[in-house]
Amino acid sequence: MTYDLYETDKAEKSRKRLEKGGTHIKKSIRKAYEKLSQNPEFGTTFLEGTLRGKRRLKFMGNRLRITFAICEQCRSLGHKELNNCHDCERIPNKAIKIFDVFFRGRGY
Ligand SMILES: [Zn+2]
Repeated sequence: MTYDLYETDKAEKSRKRLEKGGTHIKKSIRKAYEKLSQNPEFGTTFLEGTLRGKRRLKFMGNRLRITFAICEQCRSLGHKELNNCHDCERIPNKAIKIFDVFFRGRGY
């Protein structure tokens, strides 16, 4: 069973801006999104500190990052406020909220 992906407005804007950087970036992002919808826990880590509650996927040779949450965990672990995940209750269990996509060194 695959996960549905929901992007925040911020993530959508970031992704569209990045995609203008070239088709290789566009393809990498598409692949990363597919990977997340297949298996969001594999190869991703829970973050600490100010990003606590979110998970991170590194891709494109470690240069790009996605911060996201599995909304089922947002709710069960009480991370809704931490993640500022306003519409969490309206998002189904098998779903992921993508908060941002960015180059390493930015967005933190
Ligand atoms: Zn959520």
